[in-house]
Amino acid sequence: MSDQVHDIFVIGGGINGCGIARDAVGRGYSVALAEMKDFASGTSSASTKLVHGGLRYLEHYEFRLVREALMEREVLWAMAPHVIWPMRFVLPIQKGGLRPAWLVRLGLFLYDHIGGRKRLPGTRTLDLTRDPAGKPLKPVYRRAFEYSDGWVDDARMVVLNARDAAERGALVLARHRVVSARRDSGLWRIETEDAEGVRHAHRARMVVNAAGPWVDHVLAGALGRNDSHNVRLVQGSHIVVKKKFDDPRAYFFQNPDGRIMFAIPYENDFTLIGTTDRDYKGDPRQVRISAEEERYLCAAASEYFAEPVREADIVWAYSGVRPLYDDGASKAQEATRDYVLKLEGNSGDAPILNVFGGKLTTYRRLGESALEKIGEAIGVKGKPWTAGSRLPGGGFAIEGYEAEVRTLSGRYPFLSPAFAARLVRQYGTEAGVILGNARSLDDLGRRFGADLTEAEVRWLMEKEWARTAEDILWRRTKLGLRVSAEEAAALDDYLNAAAAVKAA
Ligand code: FAD
Repeated sequence: MSDQVHDIFVIGGGINGCGIARDAVGRGYSVALAEMKDFASGTSSASTKLVHGGLRYLEHYEFRLVREALMEREVLWAMAPHVIWPMRFVLPIQKGGLRPAWLVRLGLFLYDHIGGRKRLPGTRTLDLTRDPAGKPLKPVYRRAFEYSDGWVDDARMVVLNARDAAERGALVLARHRVVSARRDSGLWRIETEDAEGVRHAHRARMVVNAAGPWVDHVLAGALGRNDSHNVRLVQGSHIVVKKKFDDPRAYFFQNPDGRIMFAIPYENDFTLIGTTDRDYKGDPRQVRISAEEERYLCAAASEYFAEPVREADIVWAYSGVRPLYDDGASKAQEATRDYVLKLEGNSGDAPILNVFGGKLTTYRRLGESALEKIGEAIGVKGKPWTAGSRLPGGGFAIEGYEAEVRTLSGRYPFLSPAFAARLVRQYGTEAGVILGNARSLDDLGRRFGADLTEAEVRWLMEKEWARTAEDILWRRTKLGLRVSAEEAAALDDYLNAAAAVKAA
């Protein structure tokens, strides 16, 4: 066991754990974070990837949550303009639909006005018989509203928070599962187990349980508490199909069963369609899209698109579980999306903060609220600082993405336009650091399929804790959509060999 006593030990490397760790270390606390698998390998890579207020939550009168989330859209965009960007959404109006047009317009009026919008354009009405957004839709859809929200590369936002936390001095451990946490003489004694089965001991003044869908599991397993039923697990699945439309705008569809669904331009050549909403009882790690969900998503999208979406069109699908705070709502769609923070610890007992619920969009505000509770528990350090900060690679003008791509292409003329655009999307100003002094593609080393090179793989191993092909192909990048199974296996062989050399 090291002699160090951390102020805070965070369990869980999803968006909430990484966001809290980053905020805390930036305020001067000493912080350790353990993630049992890869960063964002839980819910935080399985979302719809929207930085959004959540138009639908207005129906459930969640005004506080919607307002806070709307305000975060431009704050997050400025923090990381490479991985977060604005998107326009087209919401077709249905005659005789569940929600009358005036009600939707009223919701959008609130959406435009309660969230401190400065740069994002407001709502407008579209004539789908003339606007290109009407082209892929069935001709019955003649009118739509178009409004603003944002898009985020969820898994990259998580790892960038982890990196920034580590660069500011936090001990950040990937593939370290917390197996026990026990109070001892006013401190926490925490044990983690690494991927090789080796156990490590840590001490901390406070624990933050940000284990997402596993938050009750951690309370029951690592802390030995058997009365833990705080979260309701709600499964949500998405399908990815070859692109259904060229327009850069996304669609917001209202299904006849009252649910809503998005069809979003994805990774240039694809369309992302989701999500479903159903209670889930199993192990969160084993969550998979069901055949019924695939059928539902295809059928629901086919109600709108002139050309139907078939199950045979699916090129990839993913599924995740929302760890929602269990407020006793009867339907999964109605359970609150707001977060709840519960601080425990009687005087003299080392405190623990449990994090329930939340959204990607509000992770930074959740972090600030968590830091208030941490201040109450172990004494205040520093001040809120993350609004106005930048995540790694995000140090360029908020609307400067195109200019960054031009600069990178000018400096490295051998990059194809698509490759340069991808590198800036993923690494922002750090793309040039990865490419270094390369003068040709060959200088970037071995190629692993699509445009993945050894230089990028090395960066991901050294700076972003990547260890497996899945980490790289499905979380640090989405090149899994473009490489073959053989190429993925060869990448795994390369990573295993590199890890063996490092361990020797
Ligand atoms: P997680 O990301 O699951 O992180 C918890 C981590 O804890 C995991 O990585 C896990 O491996 C780790 N862990 C667990 N036990 C241990 C242990 N013993 N030791 C160490 N580590 C441990 N939000 C939005 O803002 N916009 C959206 O568009 C959106 N869409 C969504 C769509 C779906 C289908 C779903 C499921 C969610 C969506 N969300 C969205 C919500 C958002 O994704 C989640 O609120 C958020 O990702 C939860 O993050 P988390 O850090 O709490 O949990």
